[in-house]
Amino acid sequence: MPGLYFHIPFCKQACHYCDFHFSTNLSRISDLVDAIVKELLLQKEYLADKKINSIYFGGGTPSILEQQHLDKIFEQIHNLYKLDTSCEITLEANPDDLTKTKVAALIKSGINRLSIGIQSFDDPVLKFLNRAHNAEMALSALDNVRNAGFKNISLDLIYAIPGQDHDAVKKNIEMAMRFTPEHLSAYSLTIEPKTVFGNWSLKDKLTPVDEAINAEQFEIISSHLIGYGYEHYEISNYCKPEYYSKHNSSYWKQEPYLGIGPSAHSYNKESRQFNISNNASYLKSIAQNKVPYQRETLTRENMINEFVFTTLRTIWGCDLNKLQDEYQFNLHDHRKKYLEELMANELVTLNNQVLRLTQKGKLLADQISLDLML
Ligand code: SF4
Repeated sequence: MPGLYFHIPFCKQACHYCDFHFSTNLSRISDLVDAIVKELLLQKEYLADKKINSIYFGGGTPSILEQQHLDKIFEQIHNLYKLDTSCEITLEANPDDLTKTKVAALIKSGINRLSIGIQSFDDPVLKFLNRAHNAEMALSALDNVRNAGFKNISLDLIYAIPGQDHDAVKKNIEMAMRFTPEHLSAYSLTIEPKTVFGNWSLKDKLTPVDEAINAEQFEIISSHLIGYGYEHYEISNYCKPEYYSKHNSSYWKQEPYLGIGPSAHSYNKESRQFNISNNASYLKSIAQNKVPYQRETLTRENMINEFVFTTLRTIWGCDLNKLQDEYQFNLHDHRKKYLEELMANELVTLNNQVLRLTQKGKLLADQISLDLML
């Protein structure tokens, strides 16, 4: 079943590591919400199936929105689509926004899942990352969310931060476990160009964490969370049984989705669309009833590569029979020798024609996928 994604391109301040599209000029939030409502109408033909089972507000910082903004967007969603009874409606939130009042408003709006950008419970680390919150705000936000009755929350944590040792990583996990989140995403810090960290790295003011330490911290997180009863269902994602993120899973399972807002992407199995990553240009174009996007028609080769890249990262693995049935492509014949090497090195397993990464293989997921691609 298809999904809707909304990109809310505003943040109170720029985190030093972030290369997502956002603006810290908050003066046009209401204009942008109106444009999003209009874009929904302009794109109403994009999804053939009008029943939706996942809505995701990402960004940027969607928790910056007021209830009236969310109400406007939901009114248009209900005008145009039917929501599945178990529709997952997620909003990414930063701890500094999650006051008791805001949390109550989010529940009232119909949000049933929060993805909270905790990143760390350590004040010096939060300062180093230039996050807008501190550890106390994170703890208070989590109390507010649980006390208000949110039964499905996901926490984001970052590891492999320069200067952060293994004990600090363990401590973050222990702190997160106090709130027994249904879902947890742990991302290793990547130094992106055109960010403050990218700039520091160019000037040798910041040295990325060594790969071996990165791998050790990945292991620490994985083993701790598995010990706490979480399923490691994708390289960076863990959940309590059955709490897979529908939004993320739909990407990995090639379900169609419509992305609304500046820099949002859409996918309908045949093509991908990329909305312009500029708030002013987006607003101007929508005012002229034109959605500012570029479209890329997917070739068979693109589809095979995407299938391999996305499915291999998950516990469901890359189903070689499905690859054969849907794209008439026999990966086993195509890369027989390489696959045998991977299996001999215990980096992948192949059972019932499903290729899966081992724990050791997960650390090399990107390289293995690239090597398998056409
Ligand atoms: S709050 Fe999120 S989107 Fe905004 S700058 Fe920080 S990491 Fe990026």
